[in-house]
Amino acid sequence: MTAADAETTFDGLGLDRRLLRAVKDLGYEVPSPIQAATIPTLLAGRDLVGLAQTGTGKTAAFALPVLSNIDAKSSATQALVLAPTRELVLQVAEAFGRYAHHVKDLHVLPVYGGQAYAPQLAGLRRGAHVVVGTPGRVIDHLEKGTLQLGSLRTLVLDEADEMLRMGFQEDVERILARTPDRKQVALFSATMPPPIKRISKRYLHDPVEITVKARTVTAARTRQRFLFVAGQQKMDALTRILEVEPYQAVLIFVRTKSATEDVAERLRSRGFAAQAINGDLNQAQRERVIGQLRTGALDLLVATDVAARGLDVDRITHVINYDIPTDTESYVHRIGRTGRAGRSGEALLFVTPREKGLLNAIEKATRQPLTEMDLPSADDVNAQRVAKFHDAITTALAASNQSMFKGLVLDYAREHNVPMADVAAALAVMSQDGGDFLLSDLERAGPARPERAGGKDRKLAKYRIDVGYRHRVTPGQIVGAIANEGGVDGSAFGKIDIHANHSIVELPEHLPKKVLAALAKTRIADQLIQLRPDERMGKRPARPR
Ligand code: AMP
Repeated sequence: MTAADAETTFDGLGLDRRLLRAVKDLGYEVPSPIQAATIPTLLAGRDLVGLAQTGTGKTAAFALPVLSNIDAKSSATQALVLAPTRELVLQVAEAFGRYAHHVKDLHVLPVYGGQAYAPQLAGLRRGAHVVVGTPGRVIDHLEKGTLQLGSLRTLVLDEADEMLRMGFQEDVERILARTPDRKQVALFSATMPPPIKRISKRYLHDPVEITVKARTVTAARTRQRFLFVAGQQKMDALTRILEVEPYQAVLIFVRTKSATEDVAERLRSRGFAAQAINGDLNQAQRERVIGQLRTGALDLLVATDVAARGLDVDRITHVINYDIPTDTESYVHRIGRTGRAGRSGEALLFVTPREKGLLNAIEKATRQPLTEMDLPSADDVNAQRVAKFHDAITTALAASNQSMFKGLVLDYAREHNVPMADVAAALAVMSQDGGDFLLSDLERAGPARPERAGGKDRKLAKYRIDVGYRHRVTPGQIVGAIANEGGVDGSAFGKIDIHANHSIVELPEHLPKKVLAALAKTRIADQLIQLRPDERMGKRPARPR
């Protein structure tokens, strides 16, 4: 299976219609290679071993067929997913929830250590069709008799190698031993060390093995760089890069149709002329946008893999992988859009901490190490802004109506008795439209390298926002919105407590006024959040500076 198989669609995979609707809502255009191979296999009831990293779309690869097979009329637990960490458990459970959006009365329950037992017990009593948990906590529930697996149809081991590394081998085997014999097992792992092979041999029946084939290629004329960045800092990183990199035209790749619109819109609101191109555009619209890119009427295009197929525009100097591609072959297709017609090209790849494995796979497939780049600093960005400011003055000095304005300005300076430099500075302020001319690193986040935990040393205070679980908000949405709209570093967040109609978020004690102002206008899940210091709980944070 390759990403270029235009004929593979979600519709043809045999999934429940309600799931197809959810996939469409999410803006997925085509199944990723691991999905195209895994979904029919699991729907057919076969056991499966999938060699896949995070970022390949493996969660949907098992979640969609598992959900397709659930009988929502019975309240018994029919699927169990084991994952190594609390973070992954929550992520997988949220993904199940999104895919099951149109399926009525389907319950997905995350269970993990560290969380109080009460909500888990309530969830289990009510009946959870799908349980996603860490091995330790699942064993606890099995031993207490609070989780019954008599009706289990499918067991998924996600990131099996990671579970073993974390010392869960015994727990995993104990759980396997307590499940019915007639069940389906799907094991996903980024690597296949001998203990995983042993587990697969012992507990899986004649499994289908699925590896996404990586074709090796070299793209010699294209320089390839990558940047470690947290998901919520991607937009900040992108705009900084666009400010400092000399480019002609840039193709920005994202995962979904909705992301093409979203990223293009956010670029436009930051003053960059950008357009989205995705599978929803008809041929005429598509040709118009590509025509604009070719003539230079447009420099920034945000695309999905499908939409960019066959795109051949010599002006593209940069390909930016805003979302990492699901497989190495798509990466090669993507970066092939630059460095055309014998020119050199630049390929940039954003890698979130969890996607490191996929980065290694890409390096292997392209047989070239990618060079790590740093997020352009505020100084780099400001140097460019000053240089562009100088250029703008030089250009304006040559303008035809310059002498008319010169008379006006001279009159003003004489009448008010102010130095010419002051008048010039005042005109520059007028030209800035109220925005800040220089970027400050205090307000904007630095890069999120996986091993760094910046911002943790600052004092945190509680803030209240008017959005809660009634609005189906997730912690990820809260962090994303506050980080993006307020420019708050993702690592600066403390605890997030979601209540029915509001949530309490821990953030640095002294949020600058500008940040508060931006957040007062921010919406999450369609709610105006009205972020403000939480005055009722505990210590009151100091007044904003
Ligand atoms: P995973 O490898 O499961 O962690 O998925 C990585 C990301 O890819 C998630 O943000 C998914 O929402 C997204 N994704 C999964 N399948 C597709 C698809 N077919 N098209 C576009 N995005 C996808």
